[in-house]
Amino acid sequence: MMVNAVVSELKEYVEGVIETHGGNPGDLIQILREIQDNRNYLSPQTLRDVAEELGLSSGYVLGVAEFYSFFYTTQKGRYHILFSDSITDRMLGKEALMMRLCERLGIAVGETRRDGRVSVDNTSCTGVCDQGPAILVNGYPLTRLTVKRIDRIVSLVEQNVPLDQWPEGYFTVADNIRRKGLLLDGVFEPGVALQTALQKGQDAILGEIRRSGLKGRGGAGFNTAMKWEYCRQESGEHFVVCNADEGEPGTFKDRVLLQSYAHQVIEGMTLCAFVIGARRGFIYLRSEYRYLLEALQGVLEQRHRSNLLGNSILESDDLNFDIQIHLGAGAYICGEESALIESLEGKRGIPRNRPPYPVSHGYLGQPTVVNNVETFAAAANIGLKGGDWFAAVGTPKSSGTKILSISGDCAHPGIYEFPYGVTIEHILQQCGAEEILGVQVGGPSGTFISEQETHRCLGFDDLATGGSFMVFNKERDVLEIVRNFTHFFAHESCGFCTPCRVGTSLIKDQIDKICAGHGSAGDLAQVTQLAGLVKNASHCGLGQTAPNVVLDTLERFPECYEHRLKELSFEPGFDLDDALEISRQMTGRDDAGAHLEQGGI
Ligand code: SF4
Repeated sequence: MMVNAVVSELKEYVEGVIETHGGNPGDLIQILREIQDNRNYLSPQTLRDVAEELGLSSGYVLGVAEFYSFFYTTQKGRYHILFSDSITDRMLGKEALMMRLCERLGIAVGETRRDGRVSVDNTSCTGVCDQGPAILVNGYPLTRLTVKRIDRIVSLVEQNVPLDQWPEGYFTVADNIRRKGLLLDGVFEPGVALQTALQKGQDAILGEIRRSGLKGRGGAGFNTAMKWEYCRQESGEHFVVCNADEGEPGTFKDRVLLQSYAHQVIEGMTLCAFVIGARRGFIYLRSEYRYLLEALQGVLEQRHRSNLLGNSILESDDLNFDIQIHLGAGAYICGEESALIESLEGKRGIPRNRPPYPVSHGYLGQPTVVNNVETFAAAANIGLKGGDWFAAVGTPKSSGTKILSISGDCAHPGIYEFPYGVTIEHILQQCGAEEILGVQVGGPSGTFISEQETHRCLGFDDLATGGSFMVFNKERDVLEIVRNFTHFFAHESCGFCTPCRVGTSLIKDQIDKICAGHGSAGDLAQVTQLAGLVKNASHCGLGQTAPNVVLDTLERFPECYEHRLKELSFEPGFDLDDALEISRQMTGRDDAGAHLEQGGI
């Protein structure tokens, strides 16, 4: 009877949540998020109830729940602690701090304590690498961890102190802006760019964006005016999507733009809506930035009150536009625009076949512009100050500025805005980096350059980046960096295509073997071949760029790999005799013939 009451209470609760979403299966991810926030995890019964209510199969709903790292199908602690496992967190001592926390709480990594109080695990970069090592506690970031802070966290957890009573400032994330330029320096009055746009008209504003030479700031660098123009030419309902899923390890500039420059970003989206004729837009906010949600919703409400969102914006019948925030659930691949759209539609974030592109077949198969947070912020400023103002800075092929997230071995990590064309050497001087081994420009999917290449320039024609700029000094072990990145890609591969799903795992295993001192010249040859294969045969950008760090470092630092190799020409990747232990136990055999090295099998 008790069990039945619990089951029917759960069902009623699920029905209530789904009702608030109008029973829309496209809201599946938001529905699962809400239920999990309330119930701690997604039990098999919950998933069945959700499936039934939405008219979906249980397998489909389970598939979606298991795709995203921030959905849990097993119980988590009331304090769920996730350690950011970016390479820069590791360089700041994350591993030792995590071990200390686990030891003192009497728990292993990946476990929930028997009393249900606490669970601890790793997660990919949380977007605060300038203030690491960092953790998320129930989704709220706590930065600059030290031994003292870890010990304090242990006592707060053991005393069951609610998060809103933890010491003041624990969950404050500073902007940490070190250098301002075109976008971060100016005073931006909400609505002024829209007023200008309404006076000039759609064509004139598109002309300004074209004249500015603005290219997408997410890294791919597609011409923004061209994207908007292609989209507006298509018939159907138009959508504007802001890609705020900055998951590239070492990138955190969107965090600052969303936290302190949200009006610019939203005004840029509204400007785009004006140009392409969209009435609806979405901000796809990465799960790690969940803590920014309420503030962002506050900005949307404020803009509604000021008649900068909603119907007849600034009294114009030509501009009706509203924005919803869609919270992601932890999947790096959703930074890829077609995977992001799939996720917006309530599905697993599997990249679509392209063409057709989102400009013609995007959200719900309709024409959609997807742009990065920084691109929209730049567009708002261009709408106000004109294309020439923007194009006067930077280089002919890379106009304007780039906001960098600088982390790693430098005296002043943080946010820097530089004109395109700046040399790497100048950036290193500004952030206080010395005796460098190399720089990872553009995150793990970008380019690893050595100290001999600091004359190179930031720009689409040389070193393009979505914003990540990780500095490594001469004390660092290249292979540890490669190991961290290869683990990241193997974890984040969506599994859709074989070259990436299998290849990223095999590369990770080979690098682990080499790092452990068991690699041979044969392994090196194999990993090189694999890297080429994954790069050339993968379906989307993730697989196509995942091997970059292996190939870049093999080219620039071959000696680092060679020093770790064994003399042997070959050693198997795993111990076959050890792998047969389970079979021996099952059959109850342990005689000589059941052991590989004794020649029995
Ligand atoms: Fe998924 Fe990787 Fe294939 Fe992209 S390349 S579709 S991430 S498996």
